Amino acid sequence: MMSLPPSCGSCTLCCTVMKVTMPSSVKPAHTACEHCTLAGCSIYADRPDVCAEFQCLWLATQQAPQFAMPSSFRPDRCGVLIDLNAAGTVLAHCAFPSSWKRQPIHGWLLGMAQRGHNVLLHSAHADLLLKADGSTQPLRCIGVDPVTKNRVYVPEAAA
Ligand code: SF4
Ligand code: SF4
Repeated sequence: MMSLPPSCGSCTLCCTVMKVTMPSSVKPAHTACEHCTLAGCSIYADRPDVCAEFQCLWLATQQAPQFAMPSSFRPDRCGVLIDLNAAGTVLAHCAFPSSWKRQPIHGWLLGMAQRGHNVLLHSAHADLLLKADGSTQPLRCIGVDPVTKNRVYVPEAAA
C-alpha cells in the first residue's frame, strides 16, 4: 500500500511568520498572506513553487519515523516554526514574542544552543540570540549574504 506523504494538517504558521518571495510580490514576515484562510491556502493548487517546496523542520522530520518530532512540536501547536539552515543555524520563527519560552519547544531550543548551534529567535518585535545559559542577546540584521542569501546578524551591542 502506498503511504501518504506527511502533511501539515491544519497548520499554516509559515504563511504568517515567514517572509515569502512570490513571483509578483513579497509577503513580509509576521504578516498573514492574503491567500491564507481558516481552511488553508485559497490558491493551493496554484501556490508559488517557494510555498510548495518549503518544509519546516517539524514537517521534514515526519518523513522518517525514527527522527519525527512529536505532534506537540507542530508549529501551530508549539507556537514556533523551526527552520535549519545549511550552516546548522536554528531559525526559530515565533508566532508571538514569547512563544519560544513555552515548553516543550523551549527545552529543545535551549538544548540546541547548549550543543553549540546558533539559535536565532525571530518575532514581530525582536531578533534575539538564545545563549546556552538561557539568556538572550538582541541582534540587528545588517544585510543579506550574497552567496547563501541568509540574513546576516550582529549583536546589537557591537553594531
Ligand atoms: S509551518 Fe511547517 S507544518 Fe506548518 S504549514 Fe508550514 S511547513 Fe506545514
Ligand atoms: S500562497 Fe498559500 S501557501 Fe503561500 S504563503 Fe500564501 S497562503 Fe501560504
